[in-house]
Amino acid sequence: MIAIYPGSFDPITLGHLDIISRGSRLFEQVVVLVSSNPNKVPLFSTAKRIAQIEASVSHLGNVAVDQYDGLTITYAHRHKAQVLLRGLRVLSDFEKELQMAHTNKTLANDLETLFLATATEYSFLSSSLVKEIARFGGPIDHLVPNHVARDVYQCYAQTQPA
Ligand code: ADP
Repeated sequence: MIAIYPGSFDPITLGHLDIISRGSRLFEQVVVLVSSNPNKVPLFSTAKRIAQIEASVSHLGNVAVDQYDGLTITYAHRHKAQVLLRGLRVLSDFEKELQMAHTNKTLANDLETLFLATATEYSFLSSSLVKEIARFGGPIDHLVPNHVARDVYQCYAQTQPA
């Protein structure tokens, strides 16, 4: 069975990676699908986010990375996927995620959304939090892969006023 794990991944965190590696043990293939969220201005380009994810999942043989800006269900149908994988952190994620799962069900009844509960140690973690800490020069090495931490710091170093 093929599962799609869609998200903005701006940037990928250890919480995302936990879901990906657990998903890779459940499915024959997991496709991490990078999409632009129209409500958010990304820090990294799609190409950069894909490169960051590829470098983070290279040890997982059945994980692929792709991009798509249309409906996730369209991508899933084209690639013969049966499952949409999502992570649940806290109760506040639930309402939005449930709404999305129900909506997708009305659009594609053959697709199932599967939620994995986040690992407790990452339940507070989001890409926005990582950016907020890094913007003020705080440590993020315990929250994202080392190469991603370097990219994030570099971004903020460049955007800081002289
Ligand atoms: P989106 O903008 O589509 O919510 P994100 O990149 O923020 O994209 O998240 C993609 C998916 O990963 C979502 O299902 C989200 O709930 C989940 N996720 C985000 N952070 C974590 C985390 N720390 N632990 C587990 N799942 C997470």
